Amino acid sequence: MVMDEAYFVDILREKKQQDLYRSRLIHDSPQSPLLTINNKQYLSFCSNDYLGLANNSEIKQSLIDAANVYGVGSGASHLISGHHVVHEQLEQQLATITKRSKALVFANGYMANIAIVNTLLQPKDAVFIDRLNHASIYDACMLTKAKIYRYQHKCMASLEKKLQSSTEKRKLIITDSVFSMDGDIAPILSLVKLAKQYGALLAVDDAHGFGVLGNTGAGIAELYNCSQQDIPILMGTFGKALGTYGAFIAGSSNLIDVFIQQARPYIYTTALPPAIAKATLTSLHLVTTGHERRQHLKELISEFKHGCKKFNIKTLESSTAIQPIIMKDSKKAVFFSEKLKEMGIIVKAIRPPTVPVGTARLRITLSYLHTKPQIHRLLVALNAINVKFQLIGDA
Ligand SMILES: *Cc1c(COP(=O)(O)O)cnc(C)c1O
Repeated sequence: MVMDEAYFVDILREKKQQDLYRSRLIHDSPQSPLLTINNKQYLSFCSNDYLGLANNSEIKQSLIDAANVYGVGSGASHLISGHHVVHEQLEQQLATITKRSKALVFANGYMANIAIVNTLLQPKDAVFIDRLNHASIYDACMLTKAKIYRYQHKCMASLEKKLQSSTEKRKLIITDSVFSMDGDIAPILSLVKLAKQYGALLAVDDAHGFGVLGNTGAGIAELYNCSQQDIPILMGTFGKALGTYGAFIAGSSNLIDVFIQQARPYIYTTALPPAIAKATLTSLHLVTTGHERRQHLKELISEFKHGCKKFNIKTLESSTAIQPIIMKDSKKAVFFSEKLKEMGIIVKAIRPPTVPVGTARLRITLSYLHTKPQIHRLLVALNAINVKFQLIGDA
């Protein structure tokens, strides 16, 4: 087979035929519920900026000030000369907030997950993953030589069976806290119990929980009151509720030291710019004192869910800001998304391989910055399309 233009064209043609071709929205506004595309304003329901901090003026000023003092690039990896005092401060603050001994800052969540699966496991070990875990966890598993067990979504009987049948030496269970494409929450307390019972290490990816869940926004561990013994590896990201960029892993001092010594996605990449670390510190302060932001977001979520009930629009069982409407096939999801766009509303169609085949969906995400009239506008638009085209499938 020759690797030439014809091959690329084939790939693209196939994507288009299957309604899996993806294209990027090009907007020229800050991340917010209102996006400007080609000089036209749209109401958007597809950012992960849950607390509306991506364009927050305090965080922006902090980034600008820090850039003036520390410059832009970190210039090297953490183990060479890229580790700055603000990275240290950020790590200390993250450890305090999450009630962990230590935290370690990563370039992003994708790389933190690659590190979690690939730093501790040897070839004769095993990793247990929820079927609906995030793609970055799947990619992390592609690199491992450990045996991979996939259990049914949130099914503890399925996990327990696999734990029982595993004869591997060490076991790691890794799960999303809030499932990124479904919005539901993992059965954390049962996972903690099973992990302890079978001597497995539990890692929780709190990308969609950190900042949003718990009284002070410390995330899933705070919501379920899980100590470092309960969840020994806690991962969170800064690109979602915190509105900046980057990620962290928190846990015992020894665990974090092992990652510093041998986590390749930590060692072999340039450190996060110190100004981003500083902006993230400012964001953390706003998050921990931002109860009113979380409260308003909760109200918007229940407003949306009530509206869906009223209009007979079926959403998945989710209490979080992620509210998917399952359309089953990709063509329907794309069509519905385009109809919404014609009405000035942006909701992206999420298709395989991001979600399992036959579960293409509209993934609506809500933010603190949305208003109730905006939620209402979305509901009215969804209802109008649903009445006209009856596109909403059974969940
Ligand atoms: C977004 C996301 C990641 C990746 O984090 P980035 O910092 O964007 O690389 C990892 N896990 C989950 C569950 C996510 O939703």
